[in-house]
Amino acid sequence: MVLGTENSKLVTSLYKEATSLYEDQLKAGFESLRFGDFLEEEFRDDYLKQNFQKSRLVMGMSLIGVVIVTLMNNSNAAPSPVMGRFGLSLMMPMLLASLFASYMGNRFIYQSTVALSALVIGVAGSIVDVQASLVGQGYYFAGQIGWLFIIWSMLGLLFTSATGLCAVVSLIYMGCASYVGLPVEQLFFEGFMLLNVNLLGGYSCYKIEYSARRTFLESRILAQLAERDGLTGLYNRRAFDEYIERIWRQSQRENCALTVMLIDIDHFKSYNDFYGHQAGDDALTQVANVIASGMQRPLDIAARYGGEEFALVLYGPATEYVKKLPERLRCQVLELGTVHEAATHTKFLSISIGVAVISPDTNCSLGGVIRMADEALYQAKEDGRNRVVIRQSGTTDVATGRFRAREAS
Ligand code: GH3
Ligand code: MG
Ligand code: MG
Repeated sequence: MVLGTENSKLVTSLYKEATSLYEDQLKAGFESLRFGDFLEEEFRDDYLKQNFQKSRLVMGMSLIGVVIVTLMNNSNAAPSPVMGRFGLSLMMPMLLASLFASYMGNRFIYQSTVALSALVIGVAGSIVDVQASLVGQGYYFAGQIGWLFIIWSMLGLLFTSATGLCAVVSLIYMGCASYVGLPVEQLFFEGFMLLNVNLLGGYSCYKIEYSARRTFLESRILAQLAERDGLTGLYNRRAFDEYIERIWRQSQRENCALTVMLIDIDHFKSYNDFYGHQAGDDALTQVANVIASGMQRPLDIAARYGGEEFALVLYGPATEYVKKLPERLRCQVLELGTVHEAATHTKFLSISIGVAVISPDTNCSLGGVIRMADEALYQAKEDGRNRVVIRQSGTTDVATGRFRAREAS
């Protein structure tokens, strides 16, 4: 099978898709504070995690505040029975429920509980504050302002949720205040204060979320750039070393087979010397595309291991697909038809592949596995290049591809 230019472009674009998702979103902008569906979910999870500490602290402080205000109210000469009941039977349980939900680890439950608490406390607080005003304790209104400020900026709510909650709470307060007939000057002043705190709170909530979204995208792009090789788009050596450590431990835990391939372009130095460095880079990218096409399962990974060396790790049983893959890759690179006049063994650019197939019961270290693949690669070079040498843990060598290099036409 010849891997045409269209096909190889497809592989490259598929491979780089994950990175460009964040870049595309950054370029497209997000003034409406919404990403595409896939990114939106990821952002919300991330945003919540970042705000957990802050909102737990606020809920803890609010709990202490409720207890203090309730005690002060009870020690008053003329305690407000409404305030006493509100603090103990409504605010405390709601705040405790939100705190509890923050430890459950479920985003939906946590956000729903916090939003419900914010609403219930805000609405009930409106009723209590208005009643307190009627008996000359208008200072409870400060609590209303404080609670709105908390909703806007301290609970880690998204701008849209905070807007809805603050609008409802403020309107209910003004509705109750007009219903019971508070003096016009008081209504005017309190309405003005509510408008102010909502405008300022809304502005800062929007700005905070906007910059959190920007930071989210930029940090993801940077993290991906840091683990990718700039020329080929494959994972770089550092990312590969970290990945293989993890996947090796997982394969041992889950008793699962692992196939490690080390792939080296043949006579690449002379290719560079003959055709120039730019042509060398193009050839490297084409070979990388072929290797990337070998990743078929979610835990497979392809990386640029060194200058013109690549590594491909396949996680899972040595199925027919896994057994045939190295030979298929070798043929595909040959069939790119990249003429290599300076090569001695064939007239086309080719690769040699050393494969280590590790069965789950094998007793060897990760270093041992890499060494096994490296030795197989060395053997492939020794045997004349453009071939695959497979080493299976505990069995003999299997070499393929001998004398199958195409003659130059
Ligand atoms: P062998 O068949 O034994 O592997 O021979 P070789 O010439 O491929 O191996 P050698 O290690 O002597 O040379 C590797 C060459 O790969 C050296 C360098 O010119 C080339 N190379 C490494 N990295 C890059 C790169 O990023 N771009 C280009 N164009 N060439 C590179
Ligand atoms: Mg080489
Ligand atoms: Mg090499």
